[in-house]
Amino acid sequence: MSQLRTRFAPSPTGYLHIGGLRTALYSYLYAKKTDGKFILRIEDTDQGRYVDGAVELIYRTLHETGIEYDEGPDVGGDYGPYIQSQRKNEYLYYAKKLVESGHAYYCFCTEERLAALPDVNGARRYDKHCMSIPKEEAERRIAQGEKYVIRQNMPTVGSTTYHDVVYGDITIENSELEDQILIKSDGMPTYNFANVIDDHLMGINCVMRGIEYLSSTPKYNLLYDAFGWARPTYIHMPPIMKDAQHKLSKRNGDASYEDLIKKGFLKEAIINYIALLGWSPKDDSEKMSFDELKRKFDVSGINKSPSIFDPMKLAWLNSLYIKEMSAEAFAEYATPWIDGCYLKQFDKALVCKLIQSRIETFAEMEEKLRFLTEYGSFDSELYVNQKQKADAELAKQILPAIKTKLENVAEWNNQNLFGALVELSAELECKKGAVLWIARVALTGLAATPGGASEIAEIIGKAETLERIGLAIEQLG
Ligand code: GLU
Repeated sequence: MSQLRTRFAPSPTGYLHIGGLRTALYSYLYAKKTDGKFILRIEDTDQGRYVDGAVELIYRTLHETGIEYDEGPDVGGDYGPYIQSQRKNEYLYYAKKLVESGHAYYCFCTEERLAALPDVNGARRYDKHCMSIPKEEAERRIAQGEKYVIRQNMPTVGSTTYHDVVYGDITIENSELEDQILIKSDGMPTYNFANVIDDHLMGINCVMRGIEYLSSTPKYNLLYDAFGWARPTYIHMPPIMKDAQHKLSKRNGDASYEDLIKKGFLKEAIINYIALLGWSPKDDSEKMSFDELKRKFDVSGINKSPSIFDPMKLAWLNSLYIKEMSAEAFAEYATPWIDGCYLKQFDKALVCKLIQSRIETFAEMEEKLRFLTEYGSFDSELYVNQKQKADAELAKQILPAIKTKLENVAEWNNQNLFGALVELSAELECKKGAVLWIARVALTGLAATPGGASEIAEIIGKAETLERIGLAIEQLG
């Protein structure tokens, strides 16, 4: 086969659904794996749905995630333009060719007539009414300015079969196919027409897209056949579900790349997770860098069955990527999260050190560290730790000594604070763990916190530390 050419053909809706991003990713990975080309085409023929900034969002997301296209609107290429609205004349030219060969016809039916067609299971199928209009008459009516569309003339008998790499042979009875519109009354092509013309003219020989197009593909194949063009290879991908019954949709709030970034996921984890939504490598590995994905991706690993979007698994993967970030990279990424909330008042490096290994998403930081600013009365049962032999009684005995010891720490840092508490435990002949436990509970009022007493004391500072211990002593009466 000649060089593989795959494409991602999103409509600029202002929203990059993760199903779309998966199509882009798989098409990219497959092309790269075979030294082929990956092309971006913007499908904007539905002018009514135009959204400002939507095209830029697509470019930005693909560049940001490393899904680089070899050809596309902003990078150029030999098969442009890569934006459908700029190819309008091509479509009319090819639709007229189909009219010439009898595979399509002009239709002048009014909306009223179409609305009066019999309703069969909720759909009004076009009845080929205008097919009988002689070509000359149709051309005269068009010249006189009458509104028209061009419809595909579907065969009424026989069946159409094609092979899908994932789903096998797909056969549709031709009688089930409606004479779909190819060119709309505004002169724009429908998606159903434009995708075929563009895929052919752009040399796309492998079409990868969501399963929702599986059953329309016979219609597209009839167009390829009518032009005498080679059909591409088809790879349809399984649906992405929210749960067993519902597709993942915009309404779930988790369905787009942007949503996930806003929730504190890293692009590396998102791409890794999206790769696993409908595909698995032969060795069943789960955490894979972009380079590993490039090496391991294989279309034979694409599954037929729907994949369920599991936010917990994404969070788990995200935590692995967070843990392996350098301290600098973590701090840089965490900065907007820190600067956007109360955490801003603390030493950023200390906050990062405390939290990096203890979060799954960046958004969790705000909640998990709230005790750094919020402190109040708490149940003295929290001092109980059987393993360390600590309880409220022991806390009452040793908290004043802890306070004095910390008051005398000259240079306020984790190491010195930790050293002072350990020293105190020896002086008091008490378990080190008990002193550290009691100090941490007194400082936070919580059973569990990220970090120990000395790390927390370092962040909140000397005055706050001593004040909190004072309040804890008062509470114990
Ligand atoms: N514009 C279509 C969409 O956004 C593309 C479908 C295809 O890949 O052919 O769903």
